[in-house]
Amino acid sequence: MSLKKLKEELLQAAKDSYKLGLVAGTSGNVSVYDTEADVMIITPSSIPYDTMTTDDLVVLKLDGTIIEGYNQPSSEWKMHAKVFNERKDIKCVLHTHSPYATGFAVCQESIPVILIEMVPFIGGDVPVAKFGMPGSESIGIEALKVLKDRKACLLSNHGTLAIGETINKAMTSSIYLEDSAKIYHIAKNAGNVKILSEKEINAMKNS
Ligand code: 13P
Ligand code: ZN
Repeated sequence: MSLKKLKEELLQAAKDSYKLGLVAGTSGNVSVYDTEADVMIITPSSIPYDTMTTDDLVVLKLDGTIIEGYNQPSSEWKMHAKVFNERKDIKCVLHTHSPYATGFAVCQESIPVILIEMVPFIGGDVPVAKFGMPGSESIGIEALKVLKDRKACLLSNHGTLAIGETINKAMTSSIYLEDSAKIYHIAKNAGNVKILSEKEINAMKNS
């Protein structure tokens, strides 16, 4: 896919995450990695989503060298680059501060498998990554330690991270992460939450 087309898809994902309430203000960021050109495209730092255009996006090498763009890249570009460097299967990284999931991130509490969608779209429960300083590579390092075969995790006292082979897949994982967190929160307040068993999870994985 051309860089132009990737920029259009990335911009749409950034705007959708804002419209869906996964991010507020200018929080969150999203990136896509283009294997052919060996560059990532990332949202700019602190630019409002509703007026953002493809020209605002920043193209950079994984070492931070800016190839295209007049804005500062997202302050979390090192976290994104770390994921692309370590996980060759992953082409999109989406970071949000979605409220229900971030509530659990603040409690440093993982979300167990309470819904069927968590199996195909997240890969199981949602683990919590240790706190990393904002803007540092260590957020990416800590996230990768818990992600393993998962497509989403919580970032302690910060937010969420979703990863995918495509922009759409990362977006879907992020949406289901927030949905699961919201429903888990409601269920916890309503009564005695029942978590899906290992047997049921494995049966779904193998079906
Ligand atoms: P940026 O606007 O620099 O991408 O920062 C938002 C954010 O979520 C920082 O963690
Ligand atoms: Zn953040």
